[in-house]
Amino acid sequence: MAMTRSLNIAFEVWSHDRWSIPLPDGHKFPISKYTLLRERVQDRVIVRESDAVSWETLALVHEQDLLDRIRTGQMSIREQRGLGLPWSETLVERGRRSVGGTMAAARRALEHGVGMNLGGGTHHAGRDFARGYCLFNDVAVTLARLREEGAVRSAVVVDCDVHQGDGTAQILGQDPDAFTLSLHGARNYPFQRIPSDLDVDLPSGTGDDDYLAELDRALDVALSGAYDIAFYLAGADPWEGDRLGRLSLTKPGLRARDELVLTRLRGIPTVVVLAGGYAPDPNDTVDINAATLDCVLALR
Ligand SMILES: [Zn+2]
Repeated sequence: MAMTRSLNIAFEVWSHDRWSIPLPDGHKFPISKYTLLRERVQDRVIVRESDAVSWETLALVHEQDLLDRIRTGQMSIREQRGLGLPWSETLVERGRRSVGGTMAAARRALEHGVGMNLGGGTHHAGRDFARGYCLFNDVAVTLARLREEGAVRSAVVVDCDVHQGDGTAQILGQDPDAFTLSLHGARNYPFQRIPSDLDVDLPSGTGDDDYLAELDRALDVALSGAYDIAFYLAGADPWEGDRLGRLSLTKPGLRARDELVLTRLRGIPTVVVLAGGYAPDPNDTVDINAATLDCVLALR
């Protein structure tokens, strides 16, 4: 696949932060980080509003029964508890736009080498389940749509969120043309795993040096094939101060992680998505996400 690197054109990213969701007081989902991130970066890049993907596109991956329950507000109490977010119309609109942002970033990546969504990375959503703050699987839906259009066939997913990418593994783990790598805390959610092509379980308190060494080794395995497109889930939750992560990475360590992944993926059109980040002060998560964007801009 031909790829041109474009040094002189403005860099566009996508955000769906205007679609906020009603949450009960004290809810732990860090909804403010998306707007804080857009505000942080909007003088350096062009921030476009993500379009909502169609239900037909979502149905390329997700089971129709699940989509019907989501669309009509019929998710059970149990499903909503597993999702961790209360159902609302804006939740659904937001979810569709989150996928739309990854889709647009992927189209940009195919044209210019790299694209970034200031959202997405909803890797706990599977074919027939929505859970762990993840309504739809943006990466799997984007890949399915691009395949249907004949734009790509093979893909590699490099998932560096601190949580294992179980939904992505369910959808793509058996796919002969997709390689799924997940590097995560061994003691983190989800506690029942669905195997990726390569899962790297890291002990609590791993720290920068061991993490980077494990990542480098895992990338050797993941990148032994050739791919039409790569997806990088640049989760901010391996950070030492994160409420949910246990891996004790520093901010410079996370920056080194981004550099390592993006350098190794050079030559493959690469889609960068945010995934998780649960710092008590959302500005810390935004620091990490903005540094990922800096790395994208430096290496494009
Ligand atoms: Zn996570």
